[in-house]
Amino acid sequence: MEENFISGVHNYCDRWCDRCPFTARCMVYAAEKDLPDEVTDPGDPAFWQYIKKNFEDVLEMLNQMIDDMEVDPEEVGPLPEYTPNPNIEVLEKLMRDKTMQYAEAVDDFFRESAPYFARLDNELGEQVEDGQPVNLESWQFFQDAVEVIRWYQYFIGAKIHRAINGLEHIHAEDDPVQSDANGSAKIALIAVERSLGAWEVLRQQLPEKKEVVLHLQQQLQHLHTEISQLFPDWARFHRPGFDDEPDKNIRLDFNPN
Ligand code: SF4
Repeated sequence: MEENFISGVHNYCDRWCDRCPFTARCMVYAAEKDLPDEVTDPGDPAFWQYIKKNFEDVLEMLNQMIDDMEVDPEEVGPLPEYTPNPNIEVLEKLMRDKTMQYAEAVDDFFRESAPYFARLDNELGEQVEDGQPVNLESWQFFQDAVEVIRWYQYFIGAKIHRAINGLEHIHAEDDPVQSDANGSAKIALIAVERSLGAWEVLRQQLPEKKEVVLHLQQQLQHLHTEISQLFPDWARFHRPGFDDEPDKNIRLDFNPN
């Protein structure tokens, strides 16, 4: 690995590369930055061809490693049968339902608020045209907050799902703090906290929407409590890069309070 890259920095990030302070030291970013747009769009067949090609390359590399190690695949024997833990399956479903409820409520909010936002936008445009003073900084905070909410809306559910799923794969000999489950819980909770902060901006700037925003914040707060109880050590998980240079780890450049 080139010296400049931080090993594993991409494993517990939020995949928001446009706003990431570690792009110059991230191998995933380096590998993906020059890809054509269609290869990063799951709706495009080129995306799936790219995934297939990657899979074939990895398979070839693994086969080569087995050859180099002179391992006879027949000696390895079959993998133990996988039996899902019913408790974890129930928990996964419960949390999937809750995170989907939140994500769908966010969609509902923006769909139902579209006329209201259009009106605000028009009013702002008219103020600018009339030469009236406009608080552009506050408008920028607002737009930033919307972007934050939208970015994490589905991300939270995906990471919580991974965290709970990972509970099954923690073995007695593993470090319980540095487990993938704990790391996934940590980035999910960071996303929840940033979303809460972003909603606070909307709550303060949109008096007419106060109640519905409060309800969304309560949903997030419940998720935060439940995930924190399931993963009490989440904050102690060390994220490569981000937890080494926490001053760079800023997503909102405003104080939502
Ligand atoms: S670490 Fe930063 S640059 Fe790398 S994948 Fe994550 S967000 Fe993107």
